[in-house]
Amino acid sequence: MATVTVFGAVRTVTGSMHLVESGEQRVLLDCGLFQGRRAESFEINSHFPFPPASINAVVLSHAHLDHCGNLPTLVQQGFLNAIYCTPATRDLTALILRDSAKIQAQDIRFVNKLRAQHGQPPTQPLYTEDDAERAITHLTAVPYRQPFQIGAVRCTFYDAGHILGSAVVVVEVEGRTLVFSGDLGRHDAPILRSAEVPLAGDVVLMESTYGDRTHDTIAHGEQMLGTAVAQAIARGGKVLVPAFAIGRTQDLTYSLHRLQDAGQIPVVPTFVDSPMAVDATEIFRAHPECFNDQTRAYLSGQGDPFGFKRLRYVRSAQETQQLNDLTDPFIVMATSGMCESGRILHHLRHHIEDPLSALLIVSFQAANTLGRRLADGVSPVNIFGEPHQVRLQVQKLEAFSAHADRDDLIGWVRGIPHVGRVFLVHGEEAQASALVAHLRTLGVEAAVPERGQQITV
Ligand SMILES: [Zn+2]
Repeated sequence: MATVTVFGAVRTVTGSMHLVESGEQRVLLDCGLFQGRRAESFEINSHFPFPPASINAVVLSHAHLDHCGNLPTLVQQGFLNAIYCTPATRDLTALILRDSAKIQAQDIRFVNKLRAQHGQPPTQPLYTEDDAERAITHLTAVPYRQPFQIGAVRCTFYDAGHILGSAVVVVEVEGRTLVFSGDLGRHDAPILRSAEVPLAGDVVLMESTYGDRTHDTIAHGEQMLGTAVAQAIARGGKVLVPAFAIGRTQDLTYSLHRLQDAGQIPVVPTFVDSPMAVDATEIFRAHPECFNDQTRAYLSGQGDPFGFKRLRYVRSAQETQQLNDLTDPFIVMATSGMCESGRILHHLRHHIEDPLSALLIVSFQAANTLGRRLADGVSPVNIFGEPHQVRLQVQKLEAFSAHADRDDLIGWVRGIPHVGRVFLVHGEEAQASALVAHLRTLGVEAAVPERGQQITV
């Protein structure tokens, strides 16, 4: 009897991790970083609910930190085998793990400096750059739609339309089929192909990030982005956009390019301030096999979707500092997407008390992150442990989400010709529960599992 135990991203949106067991086989789906309060996150990320050495393989849905970010800890604690993913996910995961280790090292230096000032002992990072490098050697690429075997467990990746390389994982075991949606994209998203619908799922683990709402259309979102940017620039302010280096930054770059082409926003210096986003963009360029027809057409017609005249990619920390000296309006996209770490913190610290500037929230902000507090209008907020009044204008533009909305999710799961039971993961309580209620009215057997619940496939 095969089972799947849901260990992470249960009633929350971070730390995706599920364990498939069949006889002696133990296959881990995702190994994501739990993100939230520092001490709690460290505790959860450093203690696996199983011995890492007992896992036969990891199958990775995509390269976002909350899906792959704890792999170095798994390897550090004894995992020895292959980590399967699509070719684009392999490239992006290598990038994101290196960056994650580097950011942890930087953050810990900063935190320890502050702790020392308060007479507190230093703390350790979750994992080091060496741990990340070791995890990267385990990455094993398998293209979409090409089944691969882990003992008696057969897995296949399908397009998920969420970020470059993202996959829906179909797991065939003991004559039954488990479908793991990973994160699903929007049906009309820019750049990538839309999610594929599997043929059958006796058990479906589906994300539910936006299970309780529908998004604005991408076209309207782009219009709102244009208005927000134009207004901030007209005020003489700066535009700060916390953006995941992978996916959101490239979507926004493409949108800003089109808005400038159309004359809807003034041409001002625009910076992608994230070495990881620079590298991620190179990986995007290297994987046109993941693009939809429109993007391929843009590539062959108007040129580069990810570059334009006033756009600069910033690599060095010194250049980041130089941005602080600019007095004229500019747009900066910087990581991390939830303002938990990275260069966006330095920009926020510099501009958070400037009422002319704007902070554009373009992606989902998990509970207990700085991004969420800012989105919720909290003031003052702590940055690097110091309080700051929030005077810049905070605007939410959810249309840019890389996540399917309620209708996309329902359409996807109902599109599967043979569906058994649907379990909703990767959504906060309210969103997951709302979607369960909705699915039940449509006659779909759905539930929100508890963390650690074992489900029979
Ligand atoms: Zn994701």
